[in-house]
Amino acid sequence: MRGVYLLHFASPFGLQQHYVGWSSDVDRRVAHHLAGDGGEFTRSVFRRGIVMTLAASWPGEHAYELWLKKHGPVARFCPLCSPDGYLLPPFAGGSGPYVGQRAWLARRAARQASDSR
Ligand SMILES: [Zn+2]
Repeated sequence: MRGVYLLHFASPFGLQQHYVGWSSDVDRRVAHHLAGDGGEFTRSVFRRGIVMTLAASWPGEHAYELWLKKHGPVARFCPLCSPDGYLLPPFAGGSGPYVGQRAWLARRAARQASDSR
């Protein structure tokens, strides 16, 4: 599949817990990352012994990678970080960051309100 993918790290690497990339063959590229044979950054993560997981991928063009990076933090789009409230980016059938974000923020506020009781 040609598209953009989101890798989630089991523990943070510096300040990063995600990696966003684009490939004309996501399956092959992600397999390389997970085997410690990706780019310099994910190779460093691999060498540190941090487990990487493919959290999400969406078919599409290279511009989607740039969109995700521009609309970070990408944890907002990570099902592993936000299991009950992550955003779908607009190119993945989401309604866009602002509409989706409002619903997500409302759910989070409700959760925090019930936690603080
Ligand atoms: Zn995550």
